[in-house]
Amino acid sequence: MVRKRVVVKGIVQGVGFRPFIWRIANEHNLVGWVKNTTSGVVIEVQGKGEDIDAFIRDIVDKKPPLALIADVETKSIPTVEGEETFKIIRSSDGKPSITIIPPDVAVCKDCLREMFDPTDRRYRYPYINCTNCGPRFTIIKDVPYDRDKTTMADWKMCDKCRAEYEDPADRRFHAQPVACPECGPTYFLTDMMGNKVEGDPFKMTAKLLREGYIVAIKSLGGYNLAVDATNEEAVKKLRKRKKRPTKPFAIMVKDLRHIEDIVRLSPEAKQHLTSHKAPILLLPKYDDNIIAESVAPGQNRLGVFLPYTPVHHLLFHDGAPPYLVMTSANVSGERIIYTDEEAYAKLSDIADFILVGQREIHAFIDDSVGTIFEGEYYHIRRARGFVPYPIFLDVVSDKVVISSGADMKGAFGIFKGGYAILSQYLGDLEAVSNGEGYRKMLRHFMRLFQVDRVDTLVIDRHPMYFSRQYALQTVSAKEVIEIYHHHGHALSVMAEYGKRRAIGLIMDGTGYGKDGTIWGSEMGMFDIHDFDVMYHFEPVPLVGGDIATREVWRLKKAFLNVIGEDSQWLRLISSSYVPYSRGMGRIFDTLSAILNIVEVATYEAEPAIMLQQYAERSGDTAYYRYSVSNGKVSTFYILSQAYREYKSGVPREVVARRFHNTIANVLVDVAVDISKKTGIKAVALSGGVWQNLLLLEMVVNGLRKRGLEPLIHRQVSPSDEGISLGFLYYGLNIGREE
Ligand code: ZN
Ligand code: ZN
Ligand code: FE
Repeated sequence: MVRKRVVVKGIVQGVGFRPFIWRIANEHNLVGWVKNTTSGVVIEVQGKGEDIDAFIRDIVDKKPPLALIADVETKSIPTVEGEETFKIIRSSDGKPSITIIPPDVAVCKDCLREMFDPTDRRYRYPYINCTNCGPRFTIIKDVPYDRDKTTMADWKMCDKCRAEYEDPADRRFHAQPVACPECGPTYFLTDMMGNKVEGDPFKMTAKLLREGYIVAIKSLGGYNLAVDATNEEAVKKLRKRKKRPTKPFAIMVKDLRHIEDIVRLSPEAKQHLTSHKAPILLLPKYDDNIIAESVAPGQNRLGVFLPYTPVHHLLFHDGAPPYLVMTSANVSGERIIYTDEEAYAKLSDIADFILVGQREIHAFIDDSVGTIFEGEYYHIRRARGFVPYPIFLDVVSDKVVISSGADMKGAFGIFKGGYAILSQYLGDLEAVSNGEGYRKMLRHFMRLFQVDRVDTLVIDRHPMYFSRQYALQTVSAKEVIEIYHHHGHALSVMAEYGKRRAIGLIMDGTGYGKDGTIWGSEMGMFDIHDFDVMYHFEPVPLVGGDIATREVWRLKKAFLNVIGEDSQWLRLISSSYVPYSRGMGRIFDTLSAILNIVEVATYEAEPAIMLQQYAERSGDTAYYRYSVSNGKVSTFYILSQAYREYKSGVPREVVARRFHNTIANVLVDVAVDISKKTGIKAVALSGGVWQNLLLLEMVVNGLRKRGLEPLIHRQVSPSDEGISLGFLYYGLNIGREE
């Protein structure tokens, strides 16, 4: 007989870890106990030596899906007499440094098997869940995470559910949202006036979708709008009603087999699609597929994901079209709609029917969007399944730091107890209703993570930023510090790798620069305290101001004017409000307009995204010349070569490609030069432009070829949404010695 004490560190609290330990201890005939402590989960087990070894292996190999094990320490201790069982001891000695609030989890195989088993008491129950799956973040109102602190509080468990909930051997032990058809909420289908549709709500919804109707469907984090993705007319109807002419829609696909028919699926992509996070993945599409062109007009990739709630599975099972447009239900520019009242009020002009679920959503959250770069997950939008899972930072600090993030893609951050927690995507904060969402979520996160004092609040330098105002209104901090937007970008990827200094190639749309103008092609030296821009691109004139980021034909006219081909505009330029922007996004926009690819953007970054689609269709390797003077890269010289080629009949695909090749060359050359001057090899790649996978691939390869080490975002999005991580890193390091 042997006894061992095992300490497990990492994310092991609030993720069903103790019941899991209880289960595997019983499987291996061990006695002892498990409890949560401030230093991790502590276990004492007693039994045969080989059983204990197998038990310890299982801790790592079979851990619950949400657990993240950083370390397992074991040590032999004297045996104890008279123990007959393995016990779960209630936490006694203090609280953990931070409560982990788990993200929402896709429905598990066991629950699905029960749901489709006619003899099971949860047969066809749309809210089936267990310890391994179901809602978490979206239903939690407060901590500790117990039933009465969730939106399930008002649904009283029946005796059968309670028995499962209280039995440590049951898959539903302490599964807070446990419910059944007898005691729990359910779904019903109505028209937009609230009139119930007779019949089984899922069979009816499936039928309506087959017939081309638009149905609003309540999911985990809000309402989605669903329509048959192979029905061109139906998709066009949705576009028209939603006033969303071209922005790509994601497609929820019945199963992997159907996904394989429309996109190229790598083993890694398959693994992420089927993970409990179930994100939308942007994957290269086959030219010949059955998806309606208007789902993602002109795109080389399609965003696909698998059903992740019991409801989705019921719908596909009941004959819904195997490819469904499944897009966040919102009014253009606003956050996702998540209450029933709001859904009826705001979607009546968009949806034909609404599938309402009675379980209330407390925290709204969109579906996550990502892609695969070099075999690994790459974030586009970090939301459901990821948030509010913490990110480990290589910083030891007792400080509590909050960061405001940026405006275009709002998301704040909190650092506490060694963890960085980023909020979900909160939308463009220029929309007033998104500001309410931002403040509400900030207060909510502060409550969930028990933030009772804030040492440092980090906000953007931009005096007009909404995020900054909202954070200042909501948080009272001991100190408030400001950071430049592009410094935040660089630090966000540097934080992921624990780097304190790096070369930065920070490419994005808009950010407030040190001289008060609009920056966004910043190349230089970045460290945790400050940054020094050594190179940037020549700025382009935004004729009319901000409107030129949407009406990108203005950029084209201004360009033609600069090169002397459109003198009419001279007057306009001299009489209009003309700020200059050196944001890489604007330079892409300009070429997109010059090539007549996009003249008026209907969604953020559309001109640049479409330019990339064209470039990807050409394999051309030529590039344009460029020059550098006083650290300024010759934007107009590059653009004029592209323009001349286009005018002389070179296809737009080739011009777009050569432009990409050129920008990649410039960035790599500049990084090499900065490396020579500073001796630094690490290169931070951050900013929204890095969502352009073609440019990313070319630059990453180019940097490696020249002996440099690209830092690629893996934990957060390279766009403004991930910037809060960099802000936190800054706040943690300010005032610290090198
Ligand atoms: Zn389950
Ligand atoms: Zn029940
Ligand atoms: Fe940015």
